[in-house]
Amino acid sequence: MDITGTAQHEAWQARALPPVEQVRPNLWSIPVPIPHNPLRYVSVHAFALDGGGLGLLDTGWESDESWAALTGGLAQIGAGIDDVRGALVTHLHFDHLGLAARVREASGAWIAMHPADASAVARISRESAAAFVASEVAFLVGLGADREDAVSDVGPPDRLESFTRMAVPDRLLEDGEHADFPGWRMRAVHTPGHTPGHLSFAEEGTGLFFSGDHVLPRISPNISTSFAGAADPLGDYLESLAAVRDLDPAEVVPAHEWRFRGLDARVDALTAHHEQRLTELLTAIRRHPRSTPWDLAAHLTWSRPWDQYERRMRIFAVTETDAHLRLLARRGLVVSSGGPVPTWTLAVR
Ligand SMILES: [Zn+2]
Repeated sequence: MDITGTAQHEAWQARALPPVEQVRPNLWSIPVPIPHNPLRYVSVHAFALDGGGLGLLDTGWESDESWAALTGGLAQIGAGIDDVRGALVTHLHFDHLGLAARVREASGAWIAMHPADASAVARISRESAAAFVASEVAFLVGLGADREDAVSDVGPPDRLESFTRMAVPDRLLEDGEHADFPGWRMRAVHTPGHTPGHLSFAEEGTGLFFSGDHVLPRISPNISTSFAGAADPLGDYLESLAAVRDLDPAEVVPAHEWRFRGLDARVDALTAHHEQRLTELLTAIRRHPRSTPWDLAAHLTWSRPWDQYERRMRIFAVTETDAHLRLLARRGLVVSSGGPVPTWTLAVR
């Protein structure tokens, strides 16, 4: 894997925000900060369109600071928010879709996503934050959490208010369709796993592969179960990795961190990482049969001691463990007891 986004990588090491960069003729990357988040920023990409105006890929986290960075970045390339004709959004997470509502309001731009994530956003927007919290708590209790732990980890509903006001997209893009970016050939590649409707984009003129959060150069994207999510998100993810492995793009342009070359090597490393986690989980189940995902997560190795995990981090860890369990079950290696709080045991073979 070769790092090609060297300015992005240097900024990362200096703990600074990278510069606005011209990536190709008529194509720029604009780093938009994510407040209080270890990912630090999302790279919004701006495409100059034939016939005038701009297309955006992703929009940024919904906050005044992020909005200022986006509009400031557009000013730096001699454009304004009212030049935006349309925004493609790789997936429904708040750092990608968050600012889409403001972009649409300020410019009249269309917003396009894959139908699976679009319908999830529509569903979230119909729900109250309180209902959302109740569903998440019930889901965690079903994974073996004490109700008190689940309530404290999920946190109060007001934290989620803004999530229920995200922009519902007005256009849908299916796998293989080309986005309405005149002058470009942006082919949508459905890459479910991180979310059910995650889209990557293969730009057929430049050979660039816009990988969203599907393939990142440093971290492994979170693959977890949720109360309204896919049945086997890790199985989906590994299939989506295999599907893009041999695209051989000129450069990979991810939504976080830095651009790089060597998609196949990165896909192999991510696949190996999950296979190793699956093996580790099998060992934990052998030692601790009839355990819930909540209990099993405590027996896996994490980036810091398990008893320091709390809140969102613990939810991510437990739902990620659940995603690995579901794939092991699909492979016939483990069985669940069923019932309201299933426990897991090695399958008798
Ligand atoms: Zn992201």
